[in-house]
Amino acid sequence: MKKNIYLFILLLLIFQFLTAQQVATSSTDGAGREYRSTPEKVNDLVHTKLRLHFDFTKKQVYGEEWLTVQPHFYPVQELSLDAKAMLIHEVTINGNSLKYQYDRKILKIQLDKIYNRQNNYTIYINYTARPEDVKEEGSEAIKYAKGIYFINADGKDPNKPTQIWTQGETESNSAWFPTIDKPNQKSTQEIYLTVPDRFITLSNGLLKEQVKNNDGTRTDYWKMDLPHAPYLFFIGIGEFAIVKDQWNEVPVNYYLEKRYAPYAKKIFGNTPEMLDFFSRITQIKYPWPKYDQMIVRDFVSGAMENTTAVSHSEMAYEVIEEEAGENSWEGTIAHETFHHWFGDLVTAESWSNLTLNESFATYGTYLWYEYKYGKDYAESERLKNLMGYFSKKGFKNNLVRFYYDKREDIFDTVSYNKGSEILHMLHKYLGDDVFFAAMKKYLVNHCFDTAEAHQWRIALEEISGKDLNWFFNQWYCGYGHPKLDIRQTYDKGSGKIVLAIAQTQDEPIFEFPYSVDIYRKDGSKEHREFWVRKKKENIFYLDFPQEPALVNPDPDHVLLANVESHKSLKDWIFQYKYASGFFDRYEALKYISASEEHLGKGQEMLIKALKDNYYGLRILSLNYLNLKDNKTRKKALPIILDMAQNDTKNLVQAFAIIKLSELNNRKDFTNIFKKGSKSSSRVVQKASLEALSGSK
Ligand SMILES: [Zn+2]
Repeated sequence: MKKNIYLFILLLLIFQFLTAQQVATSSTDGAGREYRSTPEKVNDLVHTKLRLHFDFTKKQVYGEEWLTVQPHFYPVQELSLDAKAMLIHEVTINGNSLKYQYDRKILKIQLDKIYNRQNNYTIYINYTARPEDVKEEGSEAIKYAKGIYFINADGKDPNKPTQIWTQGETESNSAWFPTIDKPNQKSTQEIYLTVPDRFITLSNGLLKEQVKNNDGTRTDYWKMDLPHAPYLFFIGIGEFAIVKDQWNEVPVNYYLEKRYAPYAKKIFGNTPEMLDFFSRITQIKYPWPKYDQMIVRDFVSGAMENTTAVSHSEMAYEVIEEEAGENSWEGTIAHETFHHWFGDLVTAESWSNLTLNESFATYGTYLWYEYKYGKDYAESERLKNLMGYFSKKGFKNNLVRFYYDKREDIFDTVSYNKGSEILHMLHKYLGDDVFFAAMKKYLVNHCFDTAEAHQWRIALEEISGKDLNWFFNQWYCGYGHPKLDIRQTYDKGSGKIVLAIAQTQDEPIFEFPYSVDIYRKDGSKEHREFWVRKKKENIFYLDFPQEPALVNPDPDHVLLANVESHKSLKDWIFQYKYASGFFDRYEALKYISASEEHLGKGQEMLIKALKDNYYGLRILSLNYLNLKDNKTRKKALPIILDMAQNDTKNLVQAFAIIKLSELNNRKDFTNIFKKGSKSSSRVVQKASLEALSGSK
């Protein structure tokens, strides 16, 4: 027997030597960023049971943990746990002490024997967590790596409630309990929280029991029977009101500071409908036992998708000041809700694959807006998403990114915004049925487990029957986007439109399906689709018996690209008149207003656009109108006066009032401003009062 062990050790040493060589030869990219492999699974988490109580003065957590793990495949005699800045008091198995080494980051436990993959084993750890002592490399990250945060712990700040909450992503929950703090681990959990009786607690799963203790404290017992990743573990403690809501049999609760309780539904009220909507489009019914959301103080991010216990920054309270029908936080609420399918149910196996969580959550918001508020609104939000991507650097980052300096670097507009646009392309290229069926397949195949980007590709391929390597290679494994220069002429002799599409970006060059709408003078159109090959310039000859009134490339703005299409003012005016998509109308208005010859016909078009069906474009037209031009002012004024008083959207009324208040003869509109100052709408009131004070 001994011989075998020596052979095993020798093989292990050779193996370690070889892997060390491998790492040494492929560890950085051209920019010196390190290669980040998917964390190796030696032991797998199975179950985490915690008993915690808190020292508010020292900002420390006293913890007992029973951690059940299982060897992944090979037999093990050691367990390595992430445990940041803790004091480790005792480590035992079945009541017997175990040897361990601890360097403030990793707790290496020598097991009492070799365990193989058929057997679970449970380790007991008695420890003190000291989040204030957690030091992470990089000054920026310190603020975000404490894992557990004591807010106004001594209660001395009269303007701030005392709270404790946690933030696990990326790998910070190991600052309050020892774990294998990697996204490719999953564990069920039980947490006993002992707190002063005046506090309420929140954690993942269901509250099973509350026991009052003799010393003025209470112990709450939370249990989560479904496995999820350690970074999604959450506890929140403080004086909160709990406002109850429901979706089917699923409890949906909102935890807010007590004085905000009357506004809970105003902030979170659409949550049940979101659970319903996302359950329908994924064809996977919301898989968790409840859905709670808590607004905490001094949060380190916007919001976090902790499974069944979402945390929100206090920015969510700003909704209270908003008009009925608006909710600036609703996109965030939808984002975190959709994470319960993409992120919590199926988790990106490594931070390199983060976009599998974030692109879907971001795109979920788009789908929610489209369903709830219509295409124009959703597209106007997509425009913001695109602007967010184009305005930031980082085009040279791959969407799936194996080389990076810090994990936090991946939480950028590439993983979120660009990732969402790439899903939109897949959605539109493959069609509704394929896209949503592939979503379902991906979720079913990897539920309560992890995935990498290629598993999403394979789900799409299996459903559609198409090969999608060409798409994934350039959009998921590569970086950048096309910059297109599109020119077209009409050859009367052959009756063909000659369409030249050049890619002017340095690299890489893309291939993609593309389409144009070709318009006749009467506004009727034909849609043509073709394939742009991977080369600097593609020329297409499209049969069309008469000279087209307009050739409109990529009418629905599906391709993620910068497009220069060399349209004239006449083209833009025609486009606004006949093309129906949000982007077509938006771009037409933008270019008409920017055109040097925009007076005359351009202004006439902007006046027409004051009656656009979408309120966002009515505001844009108001904004772009040149009222210094006498002719324009004369024609537009009656419409603006009507908008200021009767537009169905308060925001449009307010902008119309502002526009009127900028005119030299603003005194003529005093009656309208006075009427507006008594409006039940806050924005109309504010604009009117400002207009009144300006016209004195
Ligand atoms: Zn997210």
